[in-house]
Amino acid sequence: EKNLPDATTQMVCGFCGTGCNLNVHLKDGEGVCITPTTEYPVNLGMACPKGWEALSVLKSPDRAVSPLVKKSPSHWEPVDWDTALSLFSRKFKAIQEQHGADSVAFLSTGQMVTEEMAFLGALAKFGMGMVHGDGNTRQCMASAVTAYKQSFGFDSPPFTYQDLEESDVLVFVGANPCIAHPIMWERVMRNPHSPEIIVVDPRRTETAMQSTLHLQIAPKSDLPLFYGIANILIERGWINEEYIQAHTDDFEAFVTHVKAYPIERVVTETGLNQETIEQFAELIHSGKRVSFWWTMGVNQSYQGVRTAQSLINLALMTGNIGKPGTGPNSITGQCNAMGSRLFSNTTNLLGGHDFLNEEHRAKVADILSIPVDRIPAENSLPYHKIIEGILAGKIKGLWVICTNPAHSWINQGQIRDILDRLDFLVVQDMYHNTETARHADLILPAAGWGEKEGTFINAERRIGRVKRVTRAPGQALSDFSIFKLIAQYWGCADLFSEWKSPEDVFQIMKQLSAGQPCDFSGIEDYAEIEEQGGIQWPLTETAAKPPEQQRRLFADGQFFHSNGRARFMYSDPVKMPEPPNEQYPFVLLTGRGTASQWHTQTRTKNSDVLRKLYPNQIYVEMNPQDAAHYSIKPNEMIFVESQRGRLKARAFLTQSVQPKQLFIPMHYEETNRLTDAVFDPHSSQPSYKCCAVRVVKN
Ligand code: SF4
Repeated sequence: EKNLPDATTQMVCGFCGTGCNLNVHLKDGEGVCITPTTEYPVNLGMACPKGWEALSVLKSPDRAVSPLVKKSPSHWEPVDWDTALSLFSRKFKAIQEQHGADSVAFLSTGQMVTEEMAFLGALAKFGMGMVHGDGNTRQCMASAVTAYKQSFGFDSPPFTYQDLEESDVLVFVGANPCIAHPIMWERVMRNPHSPEIIVVDPRRTETAMQSTLHLQIAPKSDLPLFYGIANILIERGWINEEYIQAHTDDFEAFVTHVKAYPIERVVTETGLNQETIEQFAELIHSGKRVSFWWTMGVNQSYQGVRTAQSLINLALMTGNIGKPGTGPNSITGQCNAMGSRLFSNTTNLLGGHDFLNEEHRAKVADILSIPVDRIPAENSLPYHKIIEGILAGKIKGLWVICTNPAHSWINQGQIRDILDRLDFLVVQDMYHNTETARHADLILPAAGWGEKEGTFINAERRIGRVKRVTRAPGQALSDFSIFKLIAQYWGCADLFSEWKSPEDVFQIMKQLSAGQPCDFSGIEDYAEIEEQGGIQWPLTETAAKPPEQQRRLFADGQFFHSNGRARFMYSDPVKMPEPPNEQYPFVLLTGRGTASQWHTQTRTKNSDVLRKLYPNQIYVEMNPQDAAHYSIKPNEMIFVESQRGRLKARAFLTQSVQPKQLFIPMHYEETNRLTDAVFDPHSSQPSYKCCAVRVVKN
């Protein structure tokens, strides 16, 4: 009995963007075990394996427990915080003095609490004079962000999770929620309308196996497919003319554009048969409430923005938006991708503002009581341009916070080489031995989820609480505390005299959001967020209280462009940058392989339970037809090679992948040796999902 918990508190999970709430059971003030919260509107009493194991990954011998300074290529020595932060300031200042303020940049994350992201972005840009900083959200959400901004006038995913239960037709594109967002998928399973579940994906994923219609398209043929579907809907009069007239612009030009996608062309480009394509269009037409959901299969593409917008266009032209069970809905990946999108001070000025807009800069300067000339009047370089800047010798110092690009960035060999060219690399992380930390000159030990306070914003725009339920090990500090100390060592602490605690910053963020589409100035404080079970933005100061638990955007047909209308956005598909050829005859697909591991496994590999749920050894999914051609047996170790690198993997023979396609999960360190560094021209998001590879027998 003496080991039984004596208290319970609640907080939001720190892995995926679903934002499940967890009961953390405490013994003497320390979190000892977790159960899912039953009364929270997000997860309704459920959690996936990562949520159940969220505390155990904190107790790892790999935790960074003191600042570490590199003494040789393979040796780091522990130092105290004073030594570490003096070095941090001295090195970065010297680089800036010699090469200019923009010669030091930062790479941040969608994993820290929003208050820390805001502090980091403000400190780096307004305090330390940096111009360039980007987040790892560039790797997952940038295409959806740009698509929404161009189509709606603001980055505004319109949905609420209840929509998953209220649709009678759900279309999942390049998304595998069955394992990637398993608790959202439970909502689909609870849907009482016997919904049609349509999956568009080259792989027969776990979600596709449970669909009522799987469109197993050729890789990257989604854009012509959706233009072709739009053309069928228009030709047959299956569109909502009243909605289009009242609420959208540029439809006539879009009609002309999609005429170039007759069904014969779509058959050729997608590899689908005519009946399946027509059935898809008929299901969209016959549905009373149709919703479109997408994730990385759309976003991580050289044409991700236009593909996302082709789904937005389908929702607009059929009036499937602003009503229960509808919407063009991009699901976020990381626990706080949405916080990063609004407050990281990278792509947007704090609060979804624009660095290029003089009024916005003045507003932010006024709220923060800082001189307006401290705010850069230019946009940051996107992630890949920062990397190119290092290669070109323009960026000499880099501060990487809570992300692991040496594992996760596309074309890994190149990024690792580039990191080694820096004059000074600082990595601030929970773990001292990430692939990126192995390149660092200075490692700063950070507290993780469960060891600090703040808020996350989930995929349905719900702001939820994160709490300190256990002590960080050794000298590790919350990122918030590290930023406060850096401000002191840098000599700009007076700019942040009001930023005393995460909740102080939350109050500042409320002011920054006021008047924006993401206005949440109506939220009182942390206590109200907890009482309400999280609160979705927007919630203005004049909004009704208590807020409804589930709210979607655009119920009034008003969008965020100055004329209040949405825009049809489109352009012709471009060719696959690296199509398969004689030398490299396979298309490589990458993606999530399991519900039990998270991204680069930095945290989840530290759980015994989670490790047992997923193979430690890298594997490659291959169609048995190809295996027979190459005389490859099940479980045989083979090499997979691209023009950029090679890896050795166990052959997993399965009909899930089509012939001449391979799939390798992203969780393994080796995967991005193969991927090709090409990017969407509008969003700068990397195209992880297709490159040409070959297999070689061991
Ligand atoms: Fe956490 Fe996502 Fe799992 Fe929910 S579904 S428990 S938020 S990882």
